Amino acid sequence: MEPVFRPPSEANSYLLPVTTGCSHNDCTYCAMYLAKRFRVRPEKEVLEDLAMAKATLGDVRRVFLLDGDAFVLSARKLLRILAAVRETFPGLQRVGAYINAANVAAKTDDELRDIADAGLTIGYLGLESGDPETVTRIRKGASVDEMVEAVRRAQAAGIRMSVMSLLGMGGREHSLRHARATAAALNRMQPRFAAFLTVTPVEGTVLHEELDEGRFELITPEESLRELREIVLHLELAGSIFRANHASNYLPLKGRFPGDRERLLETIDAALDGRISLKPEYLRGL
Ligand code: SF4
Repeated sequence: MEPVFRPPSEANSYLLPVTTGCSHNDCTYCAMYLAKRFRVRPEKEVLEDLAMAKATLGDVRRVFLLDGDAFVLSARKLLRILAAVRETFPGLQRVGAYINAANVAAKTDDELRDIADAGLTIGYLGLESGDPETVTRIRKGASVDEMVEAVRRAQAAGIRMSVMSLLGMGGREHSLRHARATAAALNRMQPRFAAFLTVTPVEGTVLHEELDEGRFELITPEESLRELREIVLHLELAGSIFRANHASNYLPLKGRFPGDRERLLETIDAALDGRISLKPEYLRGL
């Protein structure tokens, strides 16, 4: 089953594998599941894992469904698994999963509502960029409009969405366009959580090849701050938690929208003026 990936905010959750790998597995920057072939785990195995978790961990309050897009399961299957999770852990507070646009598009509004009512109340979607050209180049497998629609439908059904964007995904050439389009897409989504990471090409990925061959240029730390500034300046979020404190970022930032915009801009400006130092390269993580 290794390696296993989950969002940082699910660090304390019990990780329950319901699929292996990612049904898309084609994004040019992603190395997460290169070594895993996608498959849906038999329900019998999932139920055995649950029984084992109950015996070893007792009651669990948070569960995260693995792997790359557990939401790919049919609504009927997800509902059966969620019912088993609830039955196993009576103190359950929430279940989360990675979700992609196609997973949502394959479900009706009623199915989405049933899934949220059954306890899956947080979903993580990688937008990466709101710029249509960039999204096509990185082979995201869905258009910006499709991702916006997916987030809106999931949230309307009661699933709080955390949307991840990647600073630098447009490369140096399209940095400004990527920043403005990403803010615009997030404004249409109004996600509960807006998370920002910094693109880090990983050996073995297409993006890494593009970098080696000079077809993709990484932004500098200063350019990543300018990109983030442009995004913060253009975000119009009515009630979102903003997180740019991932290990890959040069300047850890967090806050709430709309209230913290000015403070966030001031902090970024202080870093751009050299009054706050940036994280050194060797301390950055993936
Ligand atoms: S959809 Fe997510 S997990 Fe799958 S290849 Fe793309 S980034 Fe990786």
